[in-house]
Amino acid sequence: MPQTRLTDRFGRTVNYVRLSVTDRCDFRCVYCMAEDMTFLPRQQVLTLEEIARLARNFVALGTEKIRLTGGEPLVRRDILELVREVGTYGLRDFAMTTNGSQLPTMAEPLRKAGLHRLNISLDSLDADKFRAITRTGNLSQVLDGIDAARDAGFRGIKLNTVVMKGRNDEEIPELIEFARQKQVDISFIEEMPLGEISEHDRGLALCTSEEVRDIIRRRHELIPATEDSGGPARYFRMPDSEVRVGFISPHSHNFCSTCNRVRVTVEGRLLLCLGNEHSVDLRRVLRGHPVTDDKLQEAIIKAMDLKPERHHFSSNGDVQILRFMNMTGG
Ligand code: SAM
Ligand code: SF4
Repeated sequence: MPQTRLTDRFGRTVNYVRLSVTDRCDFRCVYCMAEDMTFLPRQQVLTLEEIARLARNFVALGTEKIRLTGGEPLVRRDILELVREVGTYGLRDFAMTTNGSQLPTMAEPLRKAGLHRLNISLDSLDADKFRAITRTGNLSQVLDGIDAARDAGFRGIKLNTVVMKGRNDEEIPELIEFARQKQVDISFIEEMPLGEISEHDRGLALCTSEEVRDIIRRRHELIPATEDSGGPARYFRMPDSEVRVGFISPHSHNFCSTCNRVRVTVEGRLLLCLGNEHSVDLRRVLRGHPVTDDKLQEAIIKAMDLKPERHHFSSNGDVQILRFMNMTGG
């Protein structure tokens, strides 16, 4: 019965799933959360067994790549058990996005549990600015975490930087030098209008990928790399380094025609597009009676019909999507 591939109405094959394992976080980044957040009550959150079951069924339907995210995935208790379990599913690529705060102790256990790659968020190399952007974060802990991840021998490590005008755009050259020195890739992200925030005006803070590229080009030539992730990122290399520089440009680059991914929130809502509200409640299927893998797979296959053709972010800072990024699973 199970199909081996997930295909939508526009002929796109979905083979990449981002699973959010928690909406909670030890940071309160200004672009991601409001200062006072209410988190989900426990019964609304999928158990680790339910998340593993979803992962297994996505893999049965042809998923080759899974990313665990959140919120902060490393604040979920027993996360290593989930990593160990999903690590046995034979994925081509098994990754996690983390703020890095727990990596000093967790990097090696994660690698040993079978995780292939890490994306680590890093918006500033200045301790005060870092604290101001994350509201609670400690830069030296994250820098130690990056070193621990390098020592643990992951297949790949990439830094993620959300660039905001007047906040951290002046640090772009330093962040590039840091990535080159540590021999890790780096992606610069345009801030997306997910969730309503009052801390800053997203429209005014937007620093486009084109602007970031211009700043980097003052010091380094950027040569387009041939790899395509099927995602919103465009990659470049510098002539004298192996490090890749990525640009994630939801505003200025329409990547929808090659989109290969879906997301599942920690409440079990299957989101077909980052920039649209279309979703299917998989928790209802998971907690229905009787729940079978066939039923779950049928629901996932049927959901593909809801995947919209494209997202519609605008750059004027308006909120189009009411869910915050920590609920979306970035
Ligand atoms: N807590 C982890 C972390 O920060 O890496 C994983 C979850 S976080 C939501 C995933 C990524 O989304 C981070 O790199 C973060 O910088 C990015 N992000 C959060 N809110 C964003 C927004 N409004 N626009 C663009 N990127 C955002
Ligand atoms: Fe937490 Fe990541 Fe959101 Fe920052 S971006 S508040 S670290 S979930």
